[in-house]
Amino acid sequence: DLHSFPTRRSSDLRTSLMAGNWKMNKTVEEAAGMVKALKAAVANVSDVEILVCPAFTALYAVNNEIKGSNINLGAQNLFWEAKGAFTGEISPAMIKEAGCSYVIIGHSERRQYFSETDETVNKRVKAAFANGLIPVVCVGETLEEREKDITFKVIETQIRGGLAGLSPEEASSAVIAYEPVWAIGTGKTATPDQAQQVHAFIRKLYREIYADAAGKVRILYGGSVNPKNVSDLMKQPDIDGGLVGGASLEADSFAQLVKYSK
Ligand code: PEP
Repeated sequence: DLHSFPTRRSSDLRTSLMAGNWKMNKTVEEAAGMVKALKAAVANVSDVEILVCPAFTALYAVNNEIKGSNINLGAQNLFWEAKGAFTGEISPAMIKEAGCSYVIIGHSERRQYFSETDETVNKRVKAAFANGLIPVVCVGETLEEREKDITFKVIETQIRGGLAGLSPEEASSAVIAYEPVWAIGTGKTATPDQAQQVHAFIRKLYREIYADAAGKVRILYGGSVNPKNVSDLMKQPDIDGGLVGGASLEADSFAQLVKYSK
């Protein structure tokens, strides 16, 4: 039974995480300007962890702006090799040095447009941990898969494949983002109940694989999160934060999400 074990969020167990995925938006100047405004808007927030994930080109400049603030930095991808003849790729050490502590892995857009598989997701996840980066691993079903009633099966395959072979510490510190593909950038949010159902399933599955880490792993919801729907989503016991695209691009709306995400 999906609801058979109580996982009500407690702040000492799991700190909420609000993450902005800027995707392929913002030049260096735009990114630095946005984060400067964001820094001021969230300066007094201490109970929610804040993360922004700009494009590679803006990481260094954004890091300079957020030094000493409560905003964390993440990249949107990495390549698993340390260095060498991989034209166009970015290594874990490169993003780490640019100031990142997190990295998004296996976003549905990367799976859809750039042929990411659970196997390549797993290589990236391991490379992230090996370099002291926390991966935010994205999973989620397409509309077709939901309509065929294979959502749980799809999610299980993605979790078992993408997060295979972690140590107990890694399994605890990993972040999972449940992002139904049909809800990304569409304005069609999963209902709080729909999201909670899958989050509870993920945590139950995680308990099977990684035992006690299931109580610690943070599971974010992503898919058209906005200032209006954020608090109902965050009330769900297994939703520990958000991975946000569109509404993370402006300092005002992202700051609202941060403040309503307890
Ligand atoms: C995302 O890309 O992770 C996402 C959830 O996008 P949006 O919030 O725009 O739906």
